[in-house]
Amino acid sequence: MESVRKTFGGSVVLRDIGLEVAPHTVTALIGASGSGKSTLLRCAALLEDVDDGEIRLDGEEITDPRADQDAVRRRIGVVFQAYNLFPHMTVLENITLAPRRVHRVPRSRAEEQARELLERLGLGGRAGEYPDRLSGGQQQRVAIARALAVRPRLLLLDEVTAALDPELVGEVLNVVRGLKSDGMTMVLATHEMGFAREVADQVCFLDGGVVLERGTPEQVLGDPRQERTRRFLRRVV
Ligand code: ADP
Ligand code: MG
Repeated sequence: MESVRKTFGGSVVLRDIGLEVAPHTVTALIGASGSGKSTLLRCAALLEDVDDGEIRLDGEEITDPRADQDAVRRRIGVVFQAYNLFPHMTVLENITLAPRRVHRVPRSRAEEQARELLERLGLGGRAGEYPDRLSGGQQQRVAIARALAVRPRLLLLDEVTAALDPELVGEVLNVVRGLKSDGMTMVLATHEMGFAREVADQVCFLDGGVVLERGTPEQVLGDPRQERTRRFLRRVV
């Protein structure tokens, strides 16, 4: 992202966002509520139009009005805080919907891939369940499986553990650990500072619509340069 600016009505939410994410790395976005983490992720996923600036994916400017936005969206997986599974569909149907409808993958192949994903995320045997039969942690893992089903280049995770009971947070963080070791490129907004420190290659502290501080977890979380970052960390840790 380069000089990305986003306003809602008259108010500036992202002022001048510069952010670079290397392939196969994990970037953690931290910052107070309202600092723009979700908006940044939504802009990156092309779920919001930016007012100014550029976003590039694999060298292609995806914010260019001439870019094929649907094709770009298919290369980016997004998981939100509330799992947003389709309640009237089974786990298997939730996961195979996009591959079948959008990518025209034949049903049998899509289901085979979905079962592999479920196995990998510790949900083997849950394929036929409806979402309301699952715990929050299981639902969130299904949501991650659904995002992965289209084989995205980039996975965006917006506070995926925030709505979970504390005892269910670990199983979702474990999935993120596994994806990291598989080399998935991820950007995640999180309030879990311990997790950010463990899993992230870079941490970005958002404040007032800019990335105020960016560096390794050791730098940003352990030895922040900015007084505002220090103040934030004192409040949350
Ligand atoms: P965070 O995820 O860090 O809590 P958000 O990106 O959700 O921050 O919000 C940043 C700011 O943008 C907040 O002031 C919020 O009220 C505002 N905002 C977010 N989405 C919208 C929207 N759709 N319309 C108007 N204001 C919005
Ligand atoms: Mg948010």
